[in-house]
Formats: sequence, C-alpha cells, structure tokens
Amino acid sequence: MSTIENVIIIWSGPAGHTAAIYAGRAMLRPLMFEGFLAGWVAAWGQLTTTTDVENFPGFPDGIGGPELMMKMRQQSINSDTRIQTKTIEKVDLSSSPFKVWPAWANDPLLAHTLIIATGATAKRLWLPGEEQYWQNGVSACAVCDGGLPIFRGKHLVVIGGGDSACEEAHYLTKFASKVTMLVRRDELRASKVMQKRVLEHEKIEVLRNTEWNEILGDGDVMTGMKIHNNKTDDIHEIQAGWLFYAIGYVPNTVFLDGQLETDAAWYIKTFGHMSTATSVSWVFAGGDVQDKKYRQAITSAGSWCMAALEVEHWLQDNT
Ligand code: FAD
Ligand code: NDP
Repeated sequence: MSTIENVIIIWSGPAGHTAAIYAGRAMLRPLMFEGFLAGWVAAWGQLTTTTDVENFPGFPDGIGGPELMMKMRQQSINSDTRIQTKTIEKVDLSSSPFKVWPAWANDPLLAHTLIIATGATAKRLWLPGEEQYWQNGVSACAVCDGGLPIFRGKHLVVIGGGDSACEEAHYLTKFASKVTMLVRRDELRASKVMQKRVLEHEKIEVLRNTEWNEILGDGDVMTGMKIHNNKTDDIHEIQAGWLFYAIGYVPNTVFLDGQLETDAAWYIKTFGHMSTATSVSWVFAGGDVQDKKYRQAITSAGSWCMAALEVEHWLQDNT
C-alpha cells in the first residue's frame, strides 16, 4: 500500500516555504511540490519577477526578490522538507486520505492533510493584436523581459496603476528613453510611496482616464498602440517598442476543479477567525490564492505559519 504523507504542500512562494519551515521543524517531513512554470510563474513564486523587496522585515537595505526566495527555499530544505519541481495537475478531496496527482504521474500520492498556496497569475487584456505580438512586443513581466538589449532607448508602455505597474515603470526607466503608464481611472491604486516614485520621475509619463483599442505592429513586432481617453473620447496612436501588462492577478485554482469553495473571483474561501481552514476539513489555504485584499509576501508567510500549526495540531490528535 502507498505511504500516506503527513502533509503535502502545493506551492513555492513565501506562503509555502513558511509552512514548510514550520511543518519541517515539527518533524512532519513535509513534501512540497514547487511547480514547474505553474501559472506561468517560475517555481518560487511571484517575488522572482521583481527586483528589490523593501518591506520584508529583517533586510534593512532591501533584498532582491529571487534572492529572498532562494533563502526561503534553503531554509525549507534545512528544516527537512522534501521538494519536487513538479506541478500538481489534479486532486481528489472527496475522502481522506486525499489524492494528489503530480505531472507525469499515473498513480496518486496520498496525504492526511493538504496545504494549498498556489498564488496567482498575471491577468491579460486580450486586445486585438495581442496574440500576434505576445512576447514580440507584449508581455506581463518587466523584470523578466525589460533588461533585454532590444528595449534600450525605446519608448515602453505599462498598463495599470497599482504597485506592480509603478514598480515595473520605475524599473524600465533604467533602459527606456521614456515610459508611459496607461491608467483607466483618474487615480492610481498604488501606495503613496510608489505613486510618488513614478510621478516625480522625469522619464515616466502617466496618462489617466486612458484605455486602449488595439496593439499595432509591422507583422513581426509591435510598433505602437491605439489608445483613447475615456472622458474626452479622443482616440490617437502612440509609438511604442513594448507593452507590459500590470493589471493584477487571478488565483491559481483551476486544478482544484471546484472541489473547494471559492468566491466569485475564484479565490479560495477560508472559514473562522484567523483560520486557513477551507470548505474541506484538513485542507488548508493561504497566501495570494486565498487573499485578495493584502497580497503581500509577509501576509502570505503569516497565513502559512497559521496553517502549519493547524496541521500539526490535527496530526497530533488524529494519527
Ligand atoms: P506566489 O508567490 O504566487 O507563489 C505560488 C507558487 O505556487 C508559484 O511558484 C506557482 O508556480 C506555484 N503553483 C501554482 N500552481 C501550482 C500547482 N498546481 N502545483 C504546484 N505549484 C503551483 N509583496 C511584498 O510584500 N513586497 C514587495 O515588494 C512585493 N513586490 C511584488 C512585485 C511584483 C512584480 C509582484 C507581482 C508581486 C509583489 N509582491 C510584493 C506580492 C508578493 O509577491 C505576493 O504577495 C506573494 O508572492 C504571494 O505569495 P504566495 O506564496 O501566496 O504565492
Ligand atoms: P492591483 O490589483 O493592486 O492593481 C491593478 C491595477 O490594474 C489597478 O490600477 C487596476 O485599475 C488596473 N486594472 C485591473 N484590471 C484592469 C483592466 N481590465 N483594464 C485596465 N486596468 C485594469 O494589482 P498589483 O499587481 O499592482 O498588486 C497586487 C498586490 O501586490 C497588491 O497588494 C500590491 O500591494 C502588491 N505589490 C506590492 C509591491 C510593493 O509593496 N512594493 C509591489 C507590487 C505589488 P483600478 O484601480 O481602476 O481597478
């Protein structure tokens, strides 16, 4: 008969690694699936798509996102976590022990408890021209693509007015001649400090009340966009070498196939005060896949400290 794992952790961002560190130190020997390009994010989560993280405690001078994630991963391994670089494609939560199918596996693995922290994936707008110029003018990760030589000295465009858009626009000024942010409302959603950073930057232009009709190109690469002002209805074309989407995220819950209760936007629902318990007993969820309000590395990590402690208590009482 197959071994029944104490806890399988599906994720690899700050949430997952916090759970692994706690569960590992509780001698539960957690098994983690860190994903392989799951949700189009490299294993180790969204922070691998950013530069400096300045608000994670313990790093007074900031720390690079990928470096922070590598440190978390190493701490998980040091805490006796087994990590596999595979995506979980399917789960069966109808009875305990739960069944989990990693990519390329015929037979499921079994687990007494599951921790789900699969995060979220960047949204796209699917504008006319987007499919044709995807990765030839259009993408959703400035930090991944922005440093390429083809961007140097070009006019680049970022759509969005949140913290991600501000951070990406600021990062792109290192290479671009000019960066234009297209914001659909007359205000930015970003935190005050991030707004200040872009509004005061000489290379960044913020066009408010601006939306978009079409991505233009020469057949091979993007060359510009048709945009319009939603107050004046003025339509005009701008020339641009690349467009980056920074319009938020959708939670990675498709692989659950509706087996856990979610809200209308597919974020997993949790129940009880300060709890990570889901609609299925002994399946826990936290981090960005469950939280559409705070969505920070530190809140993701905090929720998974709670989940790991809940798992530990359950296993003490039930096995
Ligand atoms: P994620 O980081 O999204 O990790 C989820 C992981 O699960 C991914 O690696 C994914 O590949 C994997 N996965 C998904 N599906 C599966 C599956 N089926 N099987 C196996 N694995 C799977 N927060 C801050 O606090 N400070 C910042 O400075 C900051 N900067 C940011 C900059 C950018 C550009 C972005 C996009 C976000 C930033 N954030 C920042 C937010 C922060 O990155 C997130 O809140 C945090 O990463 C969420 O962690 P998580 O563990 O919940 O999920
Ligand atoms: P947000 O949801 O905060 O912002 C999304 C932005 O895109 C908003 O300006 C929104 O406009 C716009 N938008 C959404 N959908 C559309 C659409 N269909 N068409 C046009 N515009 C659209 O997402 P972020 O990715 O910016 O941030 C996610 C989380 O990560 C936040 O909690 C943020 O604080 C955190 N983060 C933190 C950072 C930091 O602390 N340094 C850096 C980056 C992210 P509208 O406002 O009109 O809805």
